Amino acid sequence: MTTVAVIGLGIMGAPMAANLIKAGFDVVVYNRSPEKVEQLVEQGARGAGDVAEAVREADVVLTMLPDSADVEAVVLGEGGVLDSARPGALLVDASTIRPDVSVRLAEAARARGFRAVDAPVSGGEAGAVEGNLSIMVGGEREDVEAARPVLEAVGSTVVHVGPAGSGQTVKAANQLIVAGTIELVAEALVFLEAHGVDTEAAVKVLAGGLAGNRILDRKAANMIAREFTPGFRVDLHHKDLGIVTSAAREAGVAIPLGAQVAQLMGALRADGHGSLDHSALLLLVEQLSGRRTR
Ligand code: NAD
Repeated sequence: MTTVAVIGLGIMGAPMAANLIKAGFDVVVYNRSPEKVEQLVEQGARGAGDVAEAVREADVVLTMLPDSADVEAVVLGEGGVLDSARPGALLVDASTIRPDVSVRLAEAARARGFRAVDAPVSGGEAGAVEGNLSIMVGGEREDVEAARPVLEAVGSTVVHVGPAGSGQTVKAANQLIVAGTIELVAEALVFLEAHGVDTEAAVKVLAGGLAGNRILDRKAANMIAREFTPGFRVDLHHKDLGIVTSAAREAGVAIPLGAQVAQLMGALRADGHGSLDHSALLLLVEQLSGRRTR
């Protein structure tokens, strides 16, 4: 039986670990705040008290942590994954981090006798719970194939997009599109409300035409209700738009709309809304329009 260590049991990592248990993997879990470990133990996982204990017997180590520095600390830090896992173990980082950090982690892993792939995900909390995430995987072909059974237990679309770091580059493009789409949906909703139109009816018809998109399908109802429980936190999308803008700059590519939405996400965060769902961009549109509802 394949033993999978899951490190990071937040909004995404916890339901991903639950789906691995359901798929029949032997799952060992670790999280910085221990109550999350307990919740997974109740669902059939084995709990660990630190990273070293979590990865000691693991064939696969799945990390689902907030940012680049967190993944570096867990993988490269003293008593971390590279210090403690079995030689040959496969590292699968599903966090969204900087592509250059993923490349460095893959090199460090390989130099110490491990295999590593970057496998960031899209689909949000709902996708993690339903086990139908879209997963963009960077790494050596044979390592990606070795990771596939684990990835297919948490996702329904698993695509190898290129060498180490490529998964993160594709995820950055994903975050550019998602942020821009949320901003446009937010602007459309505030615009419709200002005209006194029935927004729910409007969303229904918009969703059936060329303007149809997943943000309308999945987030518009909550946006209309001003319900911004995350989901995906503004703090994390702000981090991702930092990755997008610097990666675009490195490539010499102009992303004028992306740069604007990065500024808007930063402003929303500076206004104290970092822990709300990213669809709270609507609050900023209201504010800019003199139509503040909170
Ligand atoms: P989260 O903040 O809910 O969860 C992160 C978890 O990691 C927390 O439980 C935290 O306690 C734990 N953690 C942090 N540092 C740790 C450490 N050193 N050791 C052990 N545990 C540690 O974040 P999330 O929403 O689950 O997102 C995780 C990653 O997935 C991020 O990179 C995010 O950008 C990405 N992502 C999130 C979503 C989403 O919709 N939430 C969707 C796709 C991708």
